[in-house]
Amino acid sequence: MAEDTFLQPLRAELECLERDGRLRRRRVTESAQGPRIVLDGHEYLSFASNDYLGLAAHPEIAAAAAQAAQQFGVGAGASHLLTGHHALHAELETRFAQHVGAAEALLFSTGYLANLGVITSLLGRHDAVFADRLNHASLVDAARLSGAEHQRYKHNDLADLDQKLEQSSATTKLIATDLVFSMDGDRAPLEALLALAERHAAWLYLDDAHGFGVLEHAVLRPLPARVIYLATLGKAVGVAGALVAAAGPVIEFLVNKARPWIYTTAQPPLLAAAALQSLQLIMTGDDRRAHLTALIALLRQRLAGLPWPVLVSDTPIQPLLIGDHVRAVALAEQLAARGIWLPAIRPPTVPEGTARLRISLSAAHSFEDVETLATALEALA
Ligand SMILES: *Cc1c(COP(=O)(O)O)cnc(C)c1O
Repeated sequence: MAEDTFLQPLRAELECLERDGRLRRRRVTESAQGPRIVLDGHEYLSFASNDYLGLAAHPEIAAAAAQAAQQFGVGAGASHLLTGHHALHAELETRFAQHVGAAEALLFSTGYLANLGVITSLLGRHDAVFADRLNHASLVDAARLSGAEHQRYKHNDLADLDQKLEQSSATTKLIATDLVFSMDGDRAPLEALLALAERHAAWLYLDDAHGFGVLEHAVLRPLPARVIYLATLGKAVGVAGALVAAAGPVIEFLVNKARPWIYTTAQPPLLAAAALQSLQLIMTGDDRRAHLTALIALLRQRLAGLPWPVLVSDTPIQPLLIGDHVRAVALAEQLAARGIWLPAIRPPTVPEGTARLRISLSAAHSFEDVETLATALEALA
């Protein structure tokens, strides 16, 4: 049948993924986000969210969203340059810029779109992006879409980056890095990167999706003119969207050039209301961050005796390196049978042979939750 020949190549590739243990599928969450979630009808103790401060289901944030929905409705109705740019969006941009010590900020609907928007606006065919090899997929896609040369330097290797910058004859150079690496949990060497950017007259684009709200970056205050800083709002902030902070002319340029910002409907204003409330909680959230730090210390201490190495990380992302992806998936299944949700991260998300259990801690976890996880892992080892 004609229909079938059309679908056949897709089926073949999916079967191939299945045979390799790489087929992905959606699971349905039926609860609010938090340490205890209901997934496909089963309750689990979860170590698999990016809700690092436990704010995704915070009642004050939900109330702010509900109140904004009552007052302004749900849909933004238009893109930002038509009539979609609401006073709540403007207030969120101003408050965020103040919070990070930048002149101005611009709200995107997601971090993925923000990365596409910034990099495709600033760079074109005669330019070059210098990207850490472990950068998030959205930065890889952004570099490709920009048409600029895409140079990937070895992870956190400043000598490699320096050499690549030195040899480049690109008109405009931009260094792009995650500040906290999403699959490893380690951090980029911020001060040294800033020094290299200055020496080579390059932009420095910092994607702080996993750090904003959790870590402080004193060196960025005030934000130097060559630095563009991205915070996403779907992780520690617990909402959705992304904010880009930069010098005034950079933001004005993006307003005029960033197609992923121009040609998309503005995010619902109720989300900006939620993010504003969350920022308030983050600014006064030292107790949450202190608890998270204590959980990280306890987890690392409890995992030290396991046969699998824990990667070096002082962030809420604590990956346990398993290696073989079939083994990692089997371990994840055994944990699930014990009521613990800790999914395996496999290639192509991480390099071949480095499959891992990516433990993600939240300030909403208790010390007992960490003990429960450690005890289960010890039993499986
Ligand atoms: C999650 C993530 C993004 C994408 O942000 P969204 O708002 O989820 O689209 C971008 N960069 C990094 C490093 C991320 O971890």
